Amino acid sequence: MMTDNIGHEMHRLIAELYPICRSITGNGFRETLQAIHRYIPLEVVEVPTGTPVFDWIVPKEWNIRDAYIKNTRGERIVDFQESNLHVLNYSTPIRTKLSLAELRSHLFSLPEHPDWIPYRTSYYAERWGFCLSHRQLLALPDDVYEVCIDSTLQDGHLTYGEFLLRGQSSDEVLISCHACHPSLANDNLSGIALATFLAQRLGESKSRYSYRFLFIPGTIGSITWLARNEANVANIQHGLVITCVGDAGRLTYKKSRRGDAEIDRAVAHVLKHSGQDHEILEFTPYGFDERQYCSPGFNLPVGCFMRTPNGCYPEYHTSADNLDFVKPASLADSFTKCLAALAVLEGNQAYVNLNPKCEPQLGKRGLYQTIGGQADARQFELAMLWVLNLSDGKHTLLQIAERSGLEFGLIRKAADTLVQHTLLKETV
Ligand code: ZN
Repeated sequence: MMTDNIGHEMHRLIAELYPICRSITGNGFRETLQAIHRYIPLEVVEVPTGTPVFDWIVPKEWNIRDAYIKNTRGERIVDFQESNLHVLNYSTPIRTKLSLAELRSHLFSLPEHPDWIPYRTSYYAERWGFCLSHRQLLALPDDVYEVCIDSTLQDGHLTYGEFLLRGQSSDEVLISCHACHPSLANDNLSGIALATFLAQRLGESKSRYSYRFLFIPGTIGSITWLARNEANVANIQHGLVITCVGDAGRLTYKKSRRGDAEIDRAVAHVLKHSGQDHEILEFTPYGFDERQYCSPGFNLPVGCFMRTPNGCYPEYHTSADNLDFVKPASLADSFTKCLAALAVLEGNQAYVNLNPKCEPQLGKRGLYQTIGGQADARQFELAMLWVLNLSDGKHTLLQIAERSGLEFGLIRKAADTLVQHTLLKETV
């Protein structure tokens, strides 16, 4: 099966990116973009440290080669080479010896999940630290520990990836994902994989809209992109932030700040007609980069497409968000639903009925079953009647689908058939 395969392909990309130590800046982020570049020819943009971006400043660039805590026997008891989550992300360099009591204030663990390593960051306050399982923390004996974080925090660049797929129109659909988390599979890598494969699939045929894909560090990346592209954001007609799309949970869509944007209605329509359990959430100014796209100065029609939301699964921001936690079947389902929502946008237009005075006689055009009983044919006839009735130039096909309760694809097909029979004309 085609969709089955896509889930496995997405999982393979996730597995390839999983070991890389990413952060909001640095070589791990660049290496990730290079890997994505094998799938789509994205442009890599470098923004210098110190660049003002609205109320923020592009931070120093962070890179790390190694980190460990050694006991007096010289054994690495906490080792960055085993898991990059062991280092507090953005830790300043340190090389010292400490007692257990001194070391403790630099150690982070998760008492409620004693076998997992937490993911912690300190981007905007300079400090250092290690993350480890609570079980290991409790078992640390009194000792003198050798601590080493071989990192650099220096003037450099913030890096992001951008790919524009040109369609017939300069109107754009924005697809944005954060790519700044290290070894975390669902939060971060699943979104990257979905965006990458969507770009590849959409590139196979000419689309109506242009599609702009962003692979950016969370928060500072969208702020930086918006600051640099303020003049062009008016082209963005629809948008999705994509993240956490590989877990086994149901699909969740968080609406844009507008709440009734076409993208909000397109995704809701697809989820409703899927027959699968799902959830639609109202906008909140918390979550991912939709916070920036939906800030009042931009108020872009950008929602957030995910499965189980951030913070709503215990594995979130821990070592348990690993390659087993993301499922090929869930990835494939997210891909299919996302593509279906974009197909609604692509096909959503308004038409005018060219025979508005009473119903046109469909039977003489071969459009009406003369013998009743075929359920599919009846549904299609009903779709044609709805399209004819509401095509006054004011209702889009999505609105007709919503009002009729019929699925968008069927309404779209009815409109195509009526256009072929010169009963319908696209509004200009
Ligand atoms: Zn996160």
